[in-house]
Amino acid sequence: MPPPNKNNPAHNEDIRKYVLKRDKMSCQWPGCGSSMNIDVLFLLEAEHGETDEKPYYNNGVTLCPKHMEIVNLHDKAFGPLIFDLIQLVEFENDLHATEMMYKEILKS
Ligand SMILES: [Zn+2]
Repeated sequence: MPPPNKNNPAHNEDIRKYVLKRDKMSCQWPGCGSSMNIDVLFLLEAEHGETDEKPYYNNGVTLCPKHMEIVNLHDKAFGPLIFDLIQLVEFENDLHATEMMYKEILKS
């Protein structure tokens, strides 16, 4: 499932809901999976026209406070990693959706 369309005033809130649902409300840091006090780390849209405009969230990933802190402390080093992590989570999600689809086909 692709991230929600941004032509919508509630776009950023939609992205948050989308990410939380996709990540099943748990930290996506490899090997973590904690669901305690989780929050969403957002990727911002690279370009946005008006400077006074609120930046659009492009995507995000769910993290626990510990991993959120690590990422925020090492922002520059982790930027590309977070991007890869989101790609991986989305890929896994698609794979799961495809698997479910095939199982449904085989059942009928
Ligand atoms: Zn974590």
